[in-house]
Amino acid sequence: MKCIICGENEATIPDRNEGPWGKRKKVCKECHTNRLRNDFIGILEIERKRRQTAAEQEGCPHKNIQTAWSYIPGECVKQPDYEQCVDCGEIF
Ligand SMILES: [Zn+2]
Ligand SMILES: [Zn+2]
Repeated sequence: MKCIICGENEATIPDRNEGPWGKRKKVCKECHTNRLRNDFIGILEIERKRRQTAAEQEGCPHKNIQTAWSYIPGECVKQPDYEQCVDCGEIF
């Protein structure tokens, strides 16, 4: 049984769309991993949009500031590099 997505590799993982009852192996590992990655990217994208919208609606008063740290070359010391608004991405 070949993978139903790429049609090249041997299917080793059941198609998750069939739910827990899907026992027949239909997709290969690569395609399965790809799918998971796409899901993850999708979630990040939704989260990003949500934040952006919230920031726009509020006119972004920069409530969520995060500090980016950088390493001083040659020394194992971190120094604050810059501060960035988590919502609108503005750097201070
Ligand atoms: Zn495949
Ligand atoms: Zn902001």
